[in-house]
Amino acid sequence: MTSRQEHQVEPPALPDTVRNYVDGEWVAGEGDRVDPVVNPATGAELASVPYASAADVDAAVAAAREAFDDWRATPAVDRAQYLFDLKAELDDRQEEIAQALTREHGKTLEEARGEIRRGIENVEVAAGAPNMLREGSGVVEDVAPGMDESAIRQPLGVFAAITPFNFPAMIPLWFLPYAVATGNTFVLKPSEKVPLSAGLILEAVEAVGFPDGVVTLVNGGADTVDALLEHEDIVGVSFVGSTPVARHVYETAAAHGKRVQAQGGAKNYVVVTESAALEEAVPNIVGSVYGNAGQRCLANDVVVGVGDCYDDLRADLLDAVDEITVGNGLDEGTDVTPLITPDSRDRVAGMIADAVEEGADLVVDGRDFEHPDYPDGNFMGPTVLEGVTTGMTIAQEEVFGPVLCLARAEDLDEAIGMVNSTEYGNASSVFTERGAEARRYRREVDAGNIGVNVGVCAPMGFFHFGGRKGSFFGDTHAQGEDAVHFYTEKTIEIERWYS
Ligand code: NAD
Repeated sequence: MTSRQEHQVEPPALPDTVRNYVDGEWVAGEGDRVDPVVNPATGAELASVPYASAADVDAAVAAAREAFDDWRATPAVDRAQYLFDLKAELDDRQEEIAQALTREHGKTLEEARGEIRRGIENVEVAAGAPNMLREGSGVVEDVAPGMDESAIRQPLGVFAAITPFNFPAMIPLWFLPYAVATGNTFVLKPSEKVPLSAGLILEAVEAVGFPDGVVTLVNGGADTVDALLEHEDIVGVSFVGSTPVARHVYETAAAHGKRVQAQGGAKNYVVVTESAALEEAVPNIVGSVYGNAGQRCLANDVVVGVGDCYDDLRADLLDAVDEITVGNGLDEGTDVTPLITPDSRDRVAGMIADAVEEGADLVVDGRDFEHPDYPDGNFMGPTVLEGVTTGMTIAQEEVFGPVLCLARAEDLDEAIGMVNSTEYGNASSVFTERGAEARRYRREVDAGNIGVNVGVCAPMGFFHFGGRKGSFFGDTHAQGEDAVHFYTEKTIEIERWYS
């Protein structure tokens, strides 16, 4: 039996109908809309996801609000114990979640396992919340005669998180552990395209025995999001997704008096200088551009070769692209997996056509790729465009597909100008062996995550996840201490005693 057949006869047990988890119960949404959850590699329908109705959202938020008073009164160290247990549950279920994740999203099993690990890392960091809650708090004795002043961090109430399709397990875990560790209750609205992984995470939450209402799951789409953004009992919103929706979430949540952190889309450049170690740079860059079929907010899809390195860089990249295998993420040896939907594939194909129209050379065209074993998959082969300039749409807009755009710069000045030309500021990498070039890059590139000889600069859970310009709307970011700040309010107390 081939490894492909083995994978196909051993799917994990997945629910036919994706449910919401409200007040400790699994319930189907009662909204008007039901969408299929589709395996992007095979086109097979995995499950259906009924959307939450407005009444379902109300019930979910009411349960979370009801749970808040007792949960905030639960000692911080006891709350942390639930997170230690959640880490253990997620560790045990890692393979089960990875199998479901690859089926609903398409990414390779290796990438799915890695993403779950990065999610669990945030549970581990959040378990240290009792310590992190001390940050920005403290007491100063005798601020005036007989008078002491202190600052403490307190939870606020019910937070919501709205998450995208491209990291179905990790991104919910950027938020859930911190929100509850700091004493809030939490409502998750995952992407309707990939709700299975979030459901499995909530099963782990249920197994841990969090009090009912502390963690809630509602499925749905834009209407569900708007119901959360406008709900009077939601105090704050964490969002990750595309820039137009991030902007909408930021503005709507703020207009309804909520604090909000909204991470948007990206357009990331990688610059390769003449001093770069090309043999290391090329596999790193290829992994960044084509991994997850380019559907990463940290994917570097415009590759700028500086000065004389361009020709060698181009040749090595094309050799590496030649070696890429396109396929089902469940199959060993797959590099490039399918796009999430047929619409997504059409959109990327349209961007390639527009780039050619605007003057780019299509050196490798993956648009007609068809997989012999998976005729209904949303596959696109690796594509390379050359002669890309910042005036082209493809150099300014997020592609979110397996497309590498090659560009040239005379020197580092010009390259940095190109990197900063977009409306986004999520990430950028430089490949160089000169410290001074790297230092300049870090200082002058306007992006929140900078890689130096690193193609995908994903911050560890104990650092915040950067993002600027059109890639982030808000103040404090996801993960680490920033998350603790976002989910708490600082209160000042000044006291004196007369007896
Ligand atoms: P998306 O914006 O389409 O959807 C994200 C979430 O918003 C989903 O839960 C969806 O149901 C909801 N939504 C969609 N349209 C809405 C609307 N009109 N009103 C209210 N809610 C709406 O994003 P996606 O396609 O799922 O994810 C890909 C995007 O996410 C890319 O742009 C990528 O760069 C971005 N992303 C950013 C980061 C980051 O850290 N900055 C991380 C991962 C993904």
